[in-house]
Amino acid sequence: MPSLIFRKGLDLKNAVAGMLAESYHSAIVDRIKADDFTYRTGRLTVHLAREFGFCYGVDRAVDYAYQTRERFPDRPVYLTGEIIHNPHVNDKLRAMGIRFLSDDPEAMSQLGPDAVVILPAFGVTVAMLQQLDRRGCTLIDTTCGSVLNVWKNVRRYAEGGYTSIIHGKVWHEETQATATHAVAYGGRYLVVLDNGEAAFVCEYVRRGGNRDAFGERFARAMSPGFDPDRDLQHIGLANQTTMLMSESLEIGEMFQHAMRDRYGAAQLAQRYQAFDTICSATQDRQDAVVALLQQKPIDLMIVIGGYNSSNTCNLARLCAASRPTFHISDPDCLESADRIRHRPVGQKAEIVADAWLPARGSVTVGLTSGASTPDNLVGAAIAKLEAFSGPPEP
Ligand code: SF4
Repeated sequence: MPSLIFRKGLDLKNAVAGMLAESYHSAIVDRIKADDFTYRTGRLTVHLAREFGFCYGVDRAVDYAYQTRERFPDRPVYLTGEIIHNPHVNDKLRAMGIRFLSDDPEAMSQLGPDAVVILPAFGVTVAMLQQLDRRGCTLIDTTCGSVLNVWKNVRRYAEGGYTSIIHGKVWHEETQATATHAVAYGGRYLVVLDNGEAAFVCEYVRRGGNRDAFGERFARAMSPGFDPDRDLQHIGLANQTTMLMSESLEIGEMFQHAMRDRYGAAQLAQRYQAFDTICSATQDRQDAVVALLQQKPIDLMIVIGGYNSSNTCNLARLCAASRPTFHISDPDCLESADRIRHRPVGQKAEIVADAWLPARGSVTVGLTSGASTPDNLVGAAIAKLEAFSGPPEP
């Protein structure tokens, strides 16, 4: 039996609106937004970035998940994995009885037509979709339109004989799904993480190199049977939607120069294509935090969002370039005025830091959050900042 797919919600938006507001809304955040994104109390000033928190894709995915639970109260409801990269939101869905296939890989083999499966905002691999389809599950597809746009571009590259060079994180669900779309349409792909990896590939484009060493370096990041001598002759650039825009632009230029050096300017148009697939929500949040850092006398930055959230990590990267920056996954990380748990930019583990908040004098804190962070967490962080900074000094 082919699966039934819902792509535009389940007509229960109004029925779940109250629950969503209760779970994720913050009155203090609304007040601060209305007050020029600034909050002053005692010796503390907080400036919010003008764009932060839930993006359109996440908003829609979470809304559909709540609608699904409401529409199918008696059927087993599953998510293929995290719906978005925010532990707070995922735990809420677990508490509503939604099971995660990623928590129990065996569960996949037991799914049948009674199962309702929610596909997350960053999409799923072609193989996963085919499996669910074969099992006749009811599918609630929340794949974000901006991710579909990336897939459209890699499909075009594949059909035109171009290898997709994907600026992305090979371990990220979105990039894994995007890569399978390139292959599904007969194409090839190579994932490059950053400009260091891009430089290595560009060098190969210009002068060739050791194919085995190339294969070893990108073993997990290229399509099966990838041959750099053959598959780098025609390339098309795409991005994971949540990468750092400045780095993606730089990588695009690096490849463009390498292809021109190798094949000459006359052949560039037929050898190289590029479409910016960073989503507007990611771009807006990056622009807003850059503006905040330029326009306000920020002493330190707090960035709130899951440690596995790509767009949040990139916001923290931008901030850390000019200010002491604390990327926290949750307001509980603000343990006291002296102690904070956070993950430094570029590191894998959370650490504990002392004396993070200046003990005396006025302090100005900049605050932003990733596209998968609900406002209630931002509000809770502001309440803690207020409590820790104490009353005005005499
Ligand atoms: S970050 Fe961008 S691509 Fe991802 S869900 Fe949000 S809007 Fe969509």
